[in-house]
This record gives sequence, structure tokens and C-alpha cells, in this order.
Amino acid sequence: MDEEEFDYEKLLDTAYDSLPETMKTDERFEVPKVDVINEGKMTIIRNFAEVCEKIRREPKDLLKYFLRELGTAGEIDGRRAVFKSKLSEHQIQNRLNSYVETYIICSECGRPDTELIREGRILMLKCEACGAKRPVMVRKAQPQTPQKAAVIEGNTYEVTIESVGRRGDGIAKIGKFVIYVKGASKKGTRVRVRIDKINGTNAFGRAVP
Ligand SMILES: [Zn+2]
Repeated sequence: MDEEEFDYEKLLDTAYDSLPETMKTDERFEVPKVDVINEGKMTIIRNFAEVCEKIRREPKDLLKYFLRELGTAGEIDGRRAVFKSKLSEHQIQNRLNSYVETYIICSECGRPDTELIREGRILMLKCEACGAKRPVMVRKAQPQTPQKAAVIEGNTYEVTIESVGRRGDGIAKIGKFVIYVKGASKKGTRVRVRIDKINGTNAFGRAVP
């Protein structure tokens, strides 16, 4: 019995030894944590360059992704990234997690040792660890239905008051979000609303000039 187990272990060792170097580390890849601060209406990722180095992607590519997904303007500033709207660390971390899932992790072996290559017009993710190759599934921009991050706390949006709630708040819609607008009780009017709080797909804000 013992001997059989021993042999099995040995077999495993041999199999293990013949694996490519990159597959030997079985520590799970962890998405780097973003270090975010808010300065007035700006949001700064203080460790942007470091994050890019850890995930081995070009800073300009990750920036482009963030700007698109977070619906904001921004730029690289030395080793930091600066966004021109107020975003939470949580929002940015969520986007980074999605980026890693889409553009980094091999769907076959789960390793992050991948590179992006172009095959004609298709962007492919090639895994250096197991050799798997898959097209990168990039969500198509849908102008009619804004993405999840379309409504962001602290941002201001222009909306049309579609109805008025029982408590006198205006109700508007942005994509799948229902926006409750304090101080806008006239149906059909176009108002600017500043979002104070988001709860699921409900957003609460007030009319601003
Ligand atoms: Zn792989």
C-alpha cells in the first residue's frame, strides 16, 4: 500500500518536473490592488505604472480601457493615472478585475502568462504557459444601453423627467438605472442631476443648475 502511494508521488514529481517553468508556480495570480485617492473632482491611481508592470500590459492600453469603461476623461501622469471625475477605489478595482479577466487570464489554464497578438483584425490572447489561444471577447459598445458604470456617484448627468414619484421626486432613466431627482417635479423637463447615491440600479440625486 505504502509503496504504491510512494510510486504515485514519484510519478507526479516526474510529471511536474517536465512541465514548463511557468506552470510550476501554483500560487494563484492576484489582481494587483489599485491605490486610489480623490483630489477635488479628480481621481488619481497612484500606483498605475506598478499595476501595468504587474499585469504586463502597456499603460496606454489600460488607460484607454479605463476611460471607456468608466466614462471619463483622463491621462497618464508619470507613474500615476489621473481621471477628471470623482471615482471610487472600488469602481476602479472592479474595472481592473474585468480587464484582467478579459485581457490577461488564460481561459484554459487560468495562468496570467499571456500576451496579446493580432491575427488579421482579431485580437488574440496567447498563453505562454499552456499554449492555448483564444480571441479576446471585447464587449461591443452599445450606445443605446450604457454599460454598468454609466451612472457614477458624484457625477452630473442631463436627464428628462419622465414621471413624478409619490414624494414629489422626479424620475428619469439612464440605461437600466432609475434616477430619482430631488427638486425636479415637473414632468417632461430636462434637468441636470448630480448623483449622490447609487443602490443597485436605483440612483438618487438632486437637480443642479
Ligand atoms: Zn494557458
